Amino acid sequence: MDTHIRFWGTRGSIPTPGSWTRIYGGNTSCVEVRFGATLFICDAGSGIRELGKDIIARDPRPTELHLFISHTHWDHIQGFPFFMPAYSKDMRIRVYGNSKDDDSRYRLLSGQMSSDHFPVSFGELGAEIDFDYFEGGEKIIDGVLVRTFALNHPGGCFGYSFEKHGTKIVYATDTELEPRPGEKFPPDGSDEALRYVSEPMVHAVRGADLLIMDAQYDDAQYATRRGWGHSSCLSAVDLAAKAGVKKLALFHHDPESSDLHIDSLVNQSAARAARRDPNLIVFGAREGLELTL
Ligand SMILES: [Zn+2]
Ligand SMILES: [Zn+2]
Repeated sequence: MDTHIRFWGTRGSIPTPGSWTRIYGGNTSCVEVRFGATLFICDAGSGIRELGKDIIARDPRPTELHLFISHTHWDHIQGFPFFMPAYSKDMRIRVYGNSKDDDSRYRLLSGQMSSDHFPVSFGELGAEIDFDYFEGGEKIIDGVLVRTFALNHPGGCFGYSFEKHGTKIVYATDTELEPRPGEKFPPDGSDEALRYVSEPMVHAVRGADLLIMDAQYDDAQYATRRGWGHSSCLSAVDLAAKAGVKKLALFHHDPESSDLHIDSLVNQSAARAARRDPNLIVFGAREGLELTL
């Protein structure tokens, strides 16, 4: 059984349409992960609008969707009011929290559709939208083992891993891998030293066939934005190499990054990967890119 991944939105913070973002795309975070007929959606940034149109046009049309929201910063929920399947009476959408009491995702998805923000209320949506949650950090959905793990981001954020028949996909956006303020960066002052990566993070992504990872900055950008909850692409490479990841997708591009700048992040990262682990493949997540594993 093949696993399909499609990037519908790869940008962080705010949609950035423009001639200079045409290659990597301007829509905010949304990734589709399909194991056979089971359809997982990671985040509901503005990219989910195009995904919704595609789902409605599919034959056969899926009737059940599983939606995982990393956190409720606006760039991860703002597309939901424009997600056509939510208006369809024959659709069931399950939205997941990280514990029984954590209905924040459901609450914020519906809250942004209050009349102050949007003309159609959440209650008027045609789909059956249920709240579900993880117990002990994991859940089996249609035979796929889904795990959730905490990330380092202001206000909190969660990553998700999906595993079936030996294929593992990890979605880990909006996280700062580097040491906390006050600690040295890079660790011994040299760029070539292997960077600190936390053991729980290595454990969560270990052996992934594909790691979709926050890599918003290069080192120079990161130096002026410490504590903002995003990573340097070079730290993402060190994590991937340490954890034996096979493919690393640089994700959550900065709204100020042009296609050319992202190309330079990819080149720097690929060069570092070649020194760290020659088998590690690094690429920039690009809107419309589809992978089959
Ligand atoms: Zn974000
Ligand atoms: Zn965020």
